[in-house]
Amino acid sequence: MVTKAITATTVGINAFKIEVEVDVANSLPNISIVGLPDSAVNEARERVHSAIKNSGFVFPTGKVIVNLAPADIRKEGTNFDLPIAVGILKEQGINIPDSNDTAFLGELSLDGSLRRVNGVLPLVAGLKECGINNVFVPFENAKEAALVQGINIYGAKSLAEVVAHYEDTPIETTRVDINRYLEENAAIDYTYDFKDVKGQQKAKKALEIAAAGGHNILMSGSPGSGKTLMAKCMASILPPLELKEALELTKIYSISGLLSPDEPLMTKRPYRAVHHTASPNGIIGGGSNPKPGEITLAHRGVLFLDEMIEFPRPVLEVLRQPIEDGEVVISRSKLSVKYPCNFMLLGAMNPCPCGYLGDKEKQCTCTESQIQRYRARLSGPLLDRIDLIINVPRLTTEELVNTKGDAEPSEKIRERVVKARKIQAKRYEKEGILTNSELTAEKIKKYCKLDEKSSQLLKTASQKYGLSGRRYHRVLKIARTIADLAESTDIKTEHLTQALQYRADI
Ligand SMILES: [Zn+2]
Repeated sequence: MVTKAITATTVGINAFKIEVEVDVANSLPNISIVGLPDSAVNEARERVHSAIKNSGFVFPTGKVIVNLAPADIRKEGTNFDLPIAVGILKEQGINIPDSNDTAFLGELSLDGSLRRVNGVLPLVAGLKECGINNVFVPFENAKEAALVQGINIYGAKSLAEVVAHYEDTPIETTRVDINRYLEENAAIDYTYDFKDVKGQQKAKKALEIAAAGGHNILMSGSPGSGKTLMAKCMASILPPLELKEALELTKIYSISGLLSPDEPLMTKRPYRAVHHTASPNGIIGGGSNPKPGEITLAHRGVLFLDEMIEFPRPVLEVLRQPIEDGEVVISRSKLSVKYPCNFMLLGAMNPCPCGYLGDKEKQCTCTESQIQRYRARLSGPLLDRIDLIINVPRLTTEELVNTKGDAEPSEKIRERVVKARKIQAKRYEKEGILTNSELTAEKIKKYCKLDEKSSQLLKTASQKYGLSGRRYHRVLKIARTIADLAESTDIKTEHLTQALQYRADI
């Protein structure tokens, strides 16, 4: 007799339903798994064998054949242990009823206890879409699984508990009120606060605009200008995650194994600071079993590249497409997967190799050609994808002395950012986007209309500075965000004039 148990596997951040079929043949005792399993799935043989015996059940004496269908999807991970064990126990006549609306996920220890696995949120979400109503998961994954609403989650501590559920000891379902959870756990990181940054009004305003509209921003300034500190302060003015964003992000952290068992839902926008010595795979994503890289871990948050110009040119060039598309495709010989990466790029760099070009107190010691070679490391097409480019000059000793008291606290700036985000979310309700940074050329025409005077101003500026088509659009998007921060329905000339200031020559 062939028995069946339902489970799932992830491809990228999506999941597919998998049927585990088990048959026992009259042959030498053995267990084999077919249907494109990776090495972790193959190792299930040993774990399942010991777990069944050590849970007090009898392992079949013949040859056990496990088929994972459909065979053309590659299966990876350790969550197949439980459905395989369930299939085998059914073969042995243990009372686990056949059911098309129940699935099993979990890794088994040799003693039969269930261990937490990665990717439970996308797995359960995928199963629900396939019409599954009940899912058994390791107890430690239960809260994460219960983030999927409208499905029964049973958190089991062991294989024996799953069997007992069908005999006389039912497991209680785990429930999480996701809206309430998000509200109660939304946290803001005030480790670095703008109130501690003296002066730098223009740079701070630019960062506020970036946070409000989700725009990419690059700061160029001498060592000691405070650009790195300001970049760190960015985390304190980011708006809270919307539920849809939180779930997307949680899926990413779940498959990456970065989710803590105590905090099943990501409630804070990510802020990922990446060093230029990080490997391209670590930044973009990849490996023989593709894993999300930093750009995906920064999804819906900030990717901070300090000393941006020191990053290897190939890495910077590879960033271009994901910045444009908001997703990255990682191809390997065996498969290609797509990960979302809609992040805000925050870059910082020195203006020249010695760092003091344009400084009011220190002399730059670089030659013209050194400066040119240095800047050429950032290509035009990459710079074209950065909405705001600003100079952050170092304050002189006199300016530092004369700036008294605390600056505006992050909390206040954040209030304006949140308001502006709400205006955008409402305006783009039917467009499937959340921020001005996501506007396409076509949508810019629709949402960034200028009056006659402003159109003329932009035309003149465009000719004067030789703005590329892309840059022209970027100015309009920035002007839209500035207008939103001012709670103005229309883009006014003053908003456009301000937007045109954020295009320092680099
Ligand atoms: Zn220099």
